[in-house]
Amino acid sequence: MGRGCKAIYQSGGATSILLKDGMTRAPVVRFKSIKRAAELKFYLEDPNNFDTLSILFNRTSRFAKLQGIKCALAGRNLYIRFKCSTGDAMGMNMVSKGVQNVLDHLQDIFPDMDVISISGNFCADKKATALNWIEGRGKSVVCEAIIKEEVVTKVLKTSVPSLLELNMIKNLAGSAMAGAIGGCNAHAANIVSAIFIATGQDPAQNVESSQCITMIETANEKDVHISVTLPCIEVGTIGGGTQLASQAACLNLLGVKGANSDIPGSNSQCLARVVAGAVLAGELSLMSALAAGHLVKSHMKYNRSCKDILSISPSAGKTAD
Ligand code: ADP
Repeated sequence: MGRGCKAIYQSGGATSILLKDGMTRAPVVRFKSIKRAAELKFYLEDPNNFDTLSILFNRTSRFAKLQGIKCALAGRNLYIRFKCSTGDAMGMNMVSKGVQNVLDHLQDIFPDMDVISISGNFCADKKATALNWIEGRGKSVVCEAIIKEEVVTKVLKTSVPSLLELNMIKNLAGSAMAGAIGGCNAHAANIVSAIFIATGQDPAQNVESSQCITMIETANEKDVHISVTLPCIEVGTIGGGTQLASQAACLNLLGVKGANSDIPGSNSQCLARVVAGAVLAGELSLMSALAAGHLVKSHMKYNRSCKDILSISPSAGKTAD
């Protein structure tokens, strides 16, 4: 990733844009008939009812702001996906509290409604889903950089045509062959997981937060245009593990620790953009290593250093091969 950062820096930096920001929770409720389930769906999706529902939802926190409700039926079971802004918190607790308030209200209007679970997996938390990939969850971010041809050669030790061809055959065609959902990338999950652990995020949310498409195209005829698009970066800078000493220190290093009192949400949105930028750097470096056939050699050099392993335990060196 460091090598990718160097290449991006020497080419003039990267640009990131936050496209969406909203956490979701989807309870599942059941009725005796499909007719009643459909009636609740129409009620929830009627724009005339949105104001009442959002007042109830938003009452649970000064940072919770209902953005929308999306419903899906499976027979007489109704899945209701609430989406809301959560300030600088990742927001799962916040959204769950708002949902509970709305469910209590709905129970009065639809007394025959049976709440099966506050989470019905249409959320979808910690599962690879097409829904998250298409709709987004948490922060949806896109990030790009133009890497100069000479930087590709000197820093990344490969060529522009090799990078373009590898991205098409591996990240696009290869992932299509594997039937991937949001897996059109080289190793976004490595970078996302590392930053999540370092900054006190929920590492299990790496499942959807790592969904990413990496595009490598030409720019200025001879240079490389690389971009990563991650629709589900689920991060917060307040709450959860963000208060642990080491994790708080890392957030401080990035200048995004805690709640932003001027513009609530801007700290966590900045962190999501940092994640996307780091993924961009990671993609650039690994793709270059693969294109040049350097992966195994550098792995042996940097990651399997016998010197380091033997200094910890003499027997550990034997398993290093
Ligand atoms: P999560 O919903 O991510 O699990 P919490 O349940 O810990 O997080 O909620 C975040 C808490 O932080 C709430 O009690 C909220 O009132 C408080 N808070 C203070 N400032 C902010 C902010 N800028 N954005 C979000 N939450 C904030």
